[in-house]
Amino acid sequence: MTELIPLYSWGFGQGFPFIIAGPCGIESRTQINEIAESLNTQNVNLIRGGIWKPRTRPDSFQGIGEEGLKWLKEAGLANGLPVAVEVAHPRHIEQALSAGIDCFWIGARTTVNPFLVQEIANALLGVDIPVFVKNPINPDLELWIGALERIYNSGLRKIAAIHRGFSSYEKSKYRNAPNWQIPIELKRRIPNLPIICDPSHISGNKSLVSSLSQTAMDLSFDGLMIEVHPDPKNALSDKEQQLLPLELKELLNSLILRQQSVDDVIFLNLLEELRHRIDKIDEDILNMMAERMSVAREIGQYKRENNMTILQVERWNEILRTRQKSGMQKDLTREFIIQLFEKIHSESIHHQTRVMNLIEIRKEVK
Ligand code: PEP
Ligand code: MN
Repeated sequence: MTELIPLYSWGFGQGFPFIIAGPCGIESRTQINEIAESLNTQNVNLIRGGIWKPRTRPDSFQGIGEEGLKWLKEAGLANGLPVAVEVAHPRHIEQALSAGIDCFWIGARTTVNPFLVQEIANALLGVDIPVFVKNPINPDLELWIGALERIYNSGLRKIAAIHRGFSSYEKSKYRNAPNWQIPIELKRRIPNLPIICDPSHISGNKSLVSSLSQTAMDLSFDGLMIEVHPDPKNALSDKEQQLLPLELKELLNSLILRQQSVDDVIFLNLLEELRHRIDKIDEDILNMMAERMSVAREIGQYKRENNMTILQVERWNEILRTRQKSGMQKDLTREFIIQLFEKIHSESIHHQTRVMNLIEIRKEVK
């Protein structure tokens, strides 16, 4: 995707970070006017507003539909701001284009479906409009990249990704797990692709929006998409996570924006030294892992000789329990310790299985 146009050449303003704000869903003409007016005085680049809402249950608010498009456009024009809607179908594109909507985003539930994304891409052939592509609901980077490529292949060059977190069955304080390593890997694979973070849908709760926004800034995201509503408690969708316009203002004012690089020589030397230490520690970790696996293989041999199964559930429970206790005393998070030892355990099982199979093969050769 070498020909992508930088975000700040899209004609939506220059200020950093790039801010998209607005309600989860447009509910009335008054509501969107009120929001647009309150955003007009803030450093916002684009107003968002859902018209067709992909809701989990059929008996909930499904979005105001086509008539909301003109309210959104009017509100944007009256306040000098461009406007964006979610499109999930070629028909949405047709209606949004004729209402003069400035920009589209593809939602997480659409990105998962290559058929639908391709139909959307086909409907966008020859249209010069910016498109944001949210990550698919499942943590699948290839699917996300595939959707971005489908849009790119239709000739669009103003494309950005939106990270809105990933659905997970595990209990967590987040509505959608951030899995930061996925957008970081996306940035590594496509360095010229702008990436916006949507802390509202990651958090599902307004109390976490600010800290997630700061994390996104610290990870060099290009901007934020934040849901704002004049009366969140009575919002028809996502009421827990929407901020009041004033809260958005406070959040934006409190963001600490750091530089990606500096030229202070003393600081750079210090950084270099610390990075050497990290390199050394990582090498030690790998050596220790190799040693652990070699012990695991030895255990595998004894288990084989004594006709014991590889998986010993009690031992595994004990490892998990004791490592959590010890790790948490060392200020590591429970989630990290569990994930780390699950990975180590599955690698050990893999090594033990290899040992057992090897003995099996040798036996056959004899
Ligand atoms: C939204 O932006 O309101 C929305 C439905 O988001 P997502 O596709 O991320 O769930
Ligand atoms: Mn929403």
